[in-house]
Amino acid sequence: MLAETVARLDADRTATAAAGPATSAGASDGREYGPGEHTVRAVRCAFSELALSFTLFGHHRFEQALRALPAHTALNDLPPDCPEPDRALPGHTESCPHCREFLRLNPAYACLPQRRARLLQDTVDLAVRARLALARAALTGGDGGLERAYEEWAEAIAVSGRAAMTVRTKMAVLRMVLGRADALSDEDSVRRGSCLDEAISIVERALPLLGPPGRQPLSAKLSELLAVRGVWGGYGCAEYDIRPDMVRAEADLRRALELNPESVYARDNLVRVLVFGLDPRPGTGSRVHKLTVLLEAFRLLHGGLERLPTHARYWETLGDALEDLESLLLGGLSSQRLLDHLVQVPDEVERAQGDAAARARELLEEARRLRDAQGDTAGALHLLARATRAHPSNADVRLELLRTTEQRLNELCEPGA
Ligand SMILES: [Zn+2]
Repeated sequence: MLAETVARLDADRTATAAAGPATSAGASDGREYGPGEHTVRAVRCAFSELALSFTLFGHHRFEQALRALPAHTALNDLPPDCPEPDRALPGHTESCPHCREFLRLNPAYACLPQRRARLLQDTVDLAVRARLALARAALTGGDGGLERAYEEWAEAIAVSGRAAMTVRTKMAVLRMVLGRADALSDEDSVRRGSCLDEAISIVERALPLLGPPGRQPLSAKLSELLAVRGVWGGYGCAEYDIRPDMVRAEADLRRALELNPESVYARDNLVRVLVFGLDPRPGTGSRVHKLTVLLEAFRLLHGGLERLPTHARYWETLGDALEDLESLLLGGLSSQRLLDHLVQVPDEVERAQGDAAARARELLEEARRLRDAQGDTAGALHLLARATRAHPSNADVRLELLRTTEQRLNELCEPGA
């Protein structure tokens, strides 16, 4: 009677699941199960070898639940069962020792199609959910939690392979990892740095474990976390009287951008760390060093503007980098040339207010002449800085700025420069 009821509920549920994805069976952590599935599974487990384990699981005694699970094999190694047509014959169960034993131990499964496989799937599902619950508790449980969580994740993935549920389990681990990382990165206090450290460790640990299904979302998350930690370590921490660490901030932002070259946040903040870090760092005051850093900043911004030519953040940061370039160039001028330069400024401001795109092209031509005909690279850079500011989305101007900065750098590096 029980066996037939379970089988009927199962058939109803299968029909409902086929009708729409919203009610189909989902994650191992139970969140995506509709109430129908939850109830039917509870009945199956209660009237089977899974009963004790299921009860312990319900009382959050996850380790005991795991120990109470019946021994189980893999889907491919299941021993042959009596064929379903034979099982349906009147009087078969009473006369067949095998079916009699199955009915005694697992009455809820006796009439299900593929009953052994279904029992195995529920066993594995229970093991996976217990492992994931232990992992979740470990993640929030303080010291050494990540290692314990990792062991549980690895066990959950290994056991789920027996019932062909590996991808589903990896997705459940992925959700847990991303959820925990988000919760940690929401921390907004003096502990923000250590919370970000922890979030990054969790994602880094999960990356090799989850393989291809987790790679893209985890890499994106890692990039995001590294960029956030870079900004925190470079500036944010100062709000809490923590001394900024520009070297570490730069390393974080570089890695963030490597993982996700599309990240505007990582790219823009890397340039900011580079440019704003120009002066305060000890032993880095030389013009060659400054120009090297600015060249990298221009390259990064050029890469960003190739992707998003009118992005306001890039324009703003480019403006700051151009100012640094100009003050570096002015620092190398004689008093007379400095005066000549300053005299031109109001005129230039006026002309740039007209057709900015046309003015940028004029300046570009003038800069090329100055550089190629007169060998005045520094003068050409002045003009290119103005041209870039007048029209930041002109890729030709930016490329010429890059080439000329490189050339100027080579000149400064030549012996006797
Ligand atoms: Zn039989």
